[in-house]
Amino acid sequence: MSARIHDAVVVGGGPVGCAAAIAMADAGLDVAVLEANADARRAPDSRTLALSWNSRLILQRLGIWSDGLPATPINTIHVSHRGHFGRTRLNAADLPLPALGYVLRFTDVHGALLKAAHRRRIDFHSGFKVGAVQPGSPVSEVSGVNAEGDQSVLARLVVVADGGASLSRSPTKRIRDHDYGQVAVVGLVKSDRLHRNCAYERFTAAGPIALLPCGDEFAFVWTCTPERANELLGLDDAAFLNELRRAFGDRAGRFIGARLRSSFPLILRLIRQPQGAGVVLLGNASQTLHPVAGQGFNLGLRDAWDLADVIRSTPVDALRTAAVTSQFRTRRRTDRLGAVTFTHSVAKLFSNDFVPLAIGRGIGLAMLDTLPPLKRELMRRMIFGTAS
Ligand SMILES: Cc1cc2nc3c(=O)[nH]c(=O)nc-3n(C[C@H](O)[C@H](O)[C@H](O)COP(=O)(O)OP(=O)(O)OC[C@H]3O[C@@H](n4cnc5c(N)ncnc54)[C@H](O)[C@@H]3O)c2cc1C
Repeated sequence: MSARIHDAVVVGGGPVGCAAAIAMADAGLDVAVLEANADARRAPDSRTLALSWNSRLILQRLGIWSDGLPATPINTIHVSHRGHFGRTRLNAADLPLPALGYVLRFTDVHGALLKAAHRRRIDFHSGFKVGAVQPGSPVSEVSGVNAEGDQSVLARLVVVADGGASLSRSPTKRIRDHDYGQVAVVGLVKSDRLHRNCAYERFTAAGPIALLPCGDEFAFVWTCTPERANELLGLDDAAFLNELRRAFGDRAGRFIGARLRSSFPLILRLIRQPQGAGVVLLGNASQTLHPVAGQGFNLGLRDAWDLADVIRSTPVDALRTAAVTSQFRTRRRTDRLGAVTFTHSVAKLFSNDFVPLAIGRGIGLAMLDTLPPLKRELMRRMIFGTAS
């Protein structure tokens, strides 16, 4: 490749990498993206993303939201625990906000970000698998391979957004690593009742089940053991709907159709940000979360936005200095630790059927309903993160 020096190179053209590239290009940087997949849009991904109101604001500022993204508002979240007392409802009107968040198909969000990156004329290289990042002064070198053979690219700042793949996964860089031994089965179901923009988070002994309003269907995220996931994926639609009804109940109506079932392994991983100058980690490369509270992409989007914010106040020649990376690390610390602790606690607390814990949870949920300030604070954290 040419000896051109980019202001920034993003490793990984997933949703967070694309968002960071767009935000940095809007801040006036010359940006390149290196994406391992030959087709950046990837294979169909049946995941849906619950995006917070704050994420909508960021996407709006990046000019993505106005693209007519199919987004279903969430006005209410109903939280309950199967077989135990206690439940709570979180309402947008309590904050007050027009919506608590929005549900979008992963492929729609990613597709809109790729389109926006293309419109910005960002130098996007599909089919470029990065093998190593060599921090250097005054520029760093990113090397890898594409269809034409070995390649390298030079940049003042390297942004690793590889989703937690090999570059950011080295064991020495892990602060926290936990395999939940669980899998998320995801897909779409139709109910005989309108969802009225209500999302459900139902905790069961085997793990949480989330139903999110998505168009005229519900997107579901059913957390269970890998063995159970294989069973659920192997059932025909009618048998699957029957199992879902047995686990979830009929609070959201009677399930009458299912499609696009697939599964994802669940892990928690928190990676140490590089200490030197010139390289930062974003999104799942920096932290991979249990999807129980729908925080992963929301957090990655805030990573991308905060990085661009730091860059906006930095002269291009200073992009490689330790001051930039250290400012970014400091700025993101509380938010990412807060999200990791929050999602891990919720995932652990509600997947344990030990009786005193179950009673505590019931009391907690019931109390939350009678303590509006506490509830508002919980919602504020879920929507805006811990640092704001
Ligand atoms: C079941 C499930 C439900 C979820 N629900 C929600 C939700 O409701 N709300 C929410 O906010 N989040 C949710 N998440 C989390 C969210 O999906 C992730 O946080 C988000 O997709 C991470 O995006 P990313 O761009 O960091 O990583 P990725 O999407 O993994 O993208 C990484 C990219 O880097 C590329 N890459 C990897 N290695 C290399 C290399 N060596 N060279 C070049 N390119 C490379 C990959 O090909 C890929 O395109 C959920 C996750 C799961 C599993």
